[in-house]
Amino acid sequence: MAVRTAVVVGGGIAGLAAAVALDRRGWRVTVLERAPAFTDVGAGLSLWPNALHALDALGLGDAVAALGAVQTGGGVRSRGGRWLSRTRNAEVIRRFGWPLTVVHRADLVRTLADALPASALRSGCEVVKVRPDGVVAHGGRFFAADLVVGADGVRSVVRGTLPRHTGCTAWRAITPPLELDTPGAVLWGRGERIGFTALPGNRFYLFAAATAPATTAASAAAAGLRHRFAEWPDPIPRLLASVDDSDVLCHDVYDVPPLDSYVRGNAVLLGDAAHAMDPMLGQGACQALEDAVTLAVCLDGADLATALARYDRERRPRTQAVAHRAARLGAVARWRSPVATALRDLAAWSVPAGVTLRSMAPVLSWRPPRA
Ligand SMILES: Cc1cc2nc3c(=O)[nH]c(=O)nc-3n(C[C@H](O)[C@H](O)[C@H](O)COP(=O)(O)OP(=O)(O)OC[C@H]3O[C@@H](n4cnc5c(N)ncnc54)[C@H](O)[C@@H]3O)c2cc1C
Repeated sequence: MAVRTAVVVGGGIAGLAAAVALDRRGWRVTVLERAPAFTDVGAGLSLWPNALHALDALGLGDAVAALGAVQTGGGVRSRGGRWLSRTRNAEVIRRFGWPLTVVHRADLVRTLADALPASALRSGCEVVKVRPDGVVAHGGRFFAADLVVGADGVRSVVRGTLPRHTGCTAWRAITPPLELDTPGAVLWGRGERIGFTALPGNRFYLFAAATAPATTAASAAAAGLRHRFAEWPDPIPRLLASVDDSDVLCHDVYDVPPLDSYVRGNAVLLGDAAHAMDPMLGQGACQALEDAVTLAVCLDGADLATALARYDRERRPRTQAVAHRAARLGAVARWRSPVATALRDLAAWSVPAGVTLRSMAPVLSWRPPRA
């Protein structure tokens, strides 16, 4: 049988994971990445059990888990520092098979890239167009393949429609090693939230978000973060003081309104290109990993049209439901009214931890589909 070929546009988490999944099934894969190297921004990433099950299906679950920090617990605290809700990771493992694990993004991207033959990886290749016949154009050259995987992120050329500003700006940073004996948490304020989780080597991943216009990132990187959160409860001031301005990443956050289809002829959308979502749920990359594994399973032994139709049927409702949930939660976290936020905090405090975790089961209990 002739070797099937795929060109993957975008070498982020979605594109590399899809490339690994297809390569392991005998496809000849080429990943075109516009950046000069296969790497990711200097920030952390929460991988929930569904993501680790997907990585396991790629044979990389243990390798990635070993690079991350397993959180003992964590949860949500109020602006004043009071615990509103706590999650125990032992319970996450018991229910869903893997713990919540936080990794450095660059470590995950490197692990995925290392799982591919070097000949599959082409950096410095910006795709400018995907023609309706599926031919991919970059730098005056053209690539034809049986399958085009559009994994080029929130501003996807393959998708060809504009993303939408979520109304929030996010900050991220990784601290140097620190002595801190507080479990990770997210603190909810009025229109603002800030959180931290442990990373290996006593470092911490610090993340924050605030209701802000789409022009904020250009003007308010590190100064905006310090200005907003300097007076928040311990250990936030200590974490903020430990990071250099140049290590603070600031982005206005965009999502993708629900699409009618993830398939465009012989091209298929994965990850943020298909369903960029509010980061509140920590599920964007987790869903991208699910997409990659599902796509490869759908393509097993099926003709392209049938396989892509199945992929769309399996992934679109699920990812759009997760994105909807993330958007709802993000909107609640952005509330500013003192009354509404007080009621929100009271509701979070009064729901037992087991109930909160059970409510996450539809998201976290995903398993790879059968061929
Ligand atoms: C503040 C914040 C925090 C988050 N936290 C989490 C979390 O804790 N857990 C989680 O699961 N998710 C999280 N997410 C979501 C997660 O970052 C994304 O869902 C994930 O990175 C999507 O991966 P991707 O490969 O689809 O897209 P991207 O990571 O955007 O990768 C796309 C790649 O395509 C390349 N590219 C783009 N255009 C072209 C082109 N024309 N030609 C060639 N290459 C191109 C880009 O350079 C890039 O390498 C967070 C998001 C934000 C904004």
